[in-house]
Amino acid sequence: MNDKNFNTDSNQSLFQFHDCNDVIAHLGDYLDKELPAVQRAAVDEHLDECPECTAFYASYKHVVQSAAELREDEQPLPVDVSNRLRRALNERLGISLPYIA
Ligand SMILES: [Zn+2]
Repeated sequence: MNDKNFNTDSNQSLFQFHDCNDVIAHLGDYLDKELPAVQRAAVDEHLDECPECTAFYASYKHVVQSAAELREDEQPLPVDVSNRLRRALNERLGISLPYIA
């Protein structure tokens, strides 16, 4: 037999995010389906094992969808609701999402 040692392991390492903030920074594009496949896979993988980011993603998605629905009705965005959510997430995750002015 020839010595064919395929490096299956080293080729498996896909794109990886540094930390939760890094993941969260990409969730917008993730939700808009604008992330490259490797990054989407990395987000999926992270959400799989990180309850904080999963919770954030669920809240974020809810806010985005609510905003989209409100936009259809031509009503103003619920800025206070959105900012309250951001503050809660900032405190819980120790991050600093910008508030909506
Ligand atoms: Zn995380």
